[in-house]
Amino acid sequence: MKVKLSKAAIQLREQFDDSFPDRDRTSDGWIGDTRHAARKSDHNPDEQGWVRAIDVDKDLHKGSKPDLMPDLVDPLRLACKAKTEKRISYIIFDGQICSSILNWKWRKYTGANKHKAHAHFSFKKEADNDGAFFQVSMLGGE
Ligand SMILES: [Zn+2]
Repeated sequence: MKVKLSKAAIQLREQFDDSFPDRDRTSDGWIGDTRHAARKSDHNPDEQGWVRAIDVDKDLHKGSKPDLMPDLVDPLRLACKAKTEKRISYIIFDGQICSSILNWKWRKYTGANKHKAHAHFSFKKEADNDGAFFQVSMLGGE
């Protein structure tokens, strides 16, 4: 089975790379490690080999580090809420999760990893082949 990453996930990661070329990638990730494989996670390939999640390190600048990730995660969240962005299934960051449950309002994330070092983005199956540009101004969008 060939493992492949959702095209929406690839696109979002590319926009992070293009907008923040010197960003820290220490806690980046996509395919699940053995720890992930033991539980249900979008980082694990499905039966067709699709992985539908990425982690993006929160340190977007190498040297001085203004904490910009909250300013990036929030417009994405709001685009999901406004339904202008339909490919993301949920976002986890800094001890909080948002999804269509509660209409993209942040709620406390009770999982094991609080996601302080990275933002987690999960994508829908329908977005597997949808690599359209994400319209977020800080990621090169309008
Ligand atoms: Zn993750």
